[in-house]
Formats: sequence, C-alpha cells, structure tokens
Amino acid sequence: MAGELILVVEDNDKNRKLVRDILEFKGYRIIEVTTAEEGLEIACVQHPALILMDIQLPGMDGITAFKHLKADPRTSKIPVIAVTASAMPNEREVIEAAGFEGYQSKPISVKKLAAEVSRIIDAHPTLT
Ligand code: MN
Repeated sequence: MAGELILVVEDNDKNRKLVRDILEFKGYRIIEVTTAEEGLEIACVQHPALILMDIQLPGMDGITAFKHLKADPRTSKIPVIAVTASAMPNEREVIEAAGFEGYQSKPISVKKLAAEVSRIIDAHPTLT
C-alpha cells in the first residue's frame, strides 16, 4: 500500500529535504515539522501512520517526545523511527530501551530508510 501519511520531525533543512525526497518518491504523503513540540500537536490531530523522529532537536529532544507519544492514548499506537547522528556510544541502546519501533543512523541511506519505513508501515497497518 502507498499514500500513507508520515510525520517527519527534523530540524536540519538538508536532512528534511532528503527524507522528503525519499518518501515522496515512494508515494507517501508527508507532514514536516522542525520541533518535537509541533510534532506532538500534529500527531494528535493528523494521526500519521508513522513518525520519523530526529533525536537532537531544539527544545524537547526526540526521546522525551517519544515518551509523550507513548503515554498518550491518542498517539500511543503510532510507530516511531528514531533518526540520529549522535556519536554517543550507548545512544542506540538508550533508543532501543525506550522502545522505538525503528532506528536509522545519519548520514541517511536512501535504501535503508526506504526499507525501514516500508517494513514498519507493513507491520503496523493503520486502523483508519
Ligand atoms: Mn537535529
């Protein structure tokens, strides 16, 4: 299936454009925001099929945003892929322990991102 709505939370213009190009090419619809705070609002209202969450953001970070999403019954079922460039050696473990449904490292690989998005969307069919 294609045409699912994906919410992209990313503060870096270049990364956001790359993600947009990959997802639009694959036939997804996207909404882009640059802060976790905006992402939480949009997720409640638009019910995306998937969220791509940058971890390092101005204001609230992506892991805190993820916890808010999972604590809210309106957004708790939306799968979230963490996208991060952090060199912190244990960050991947922190992300996995938090319960993110997927993980992508930066620099973003076109093939890997497309495959991960499709895998997670297939595994979490939307109810609407
Ligand atoms: Mn960032």
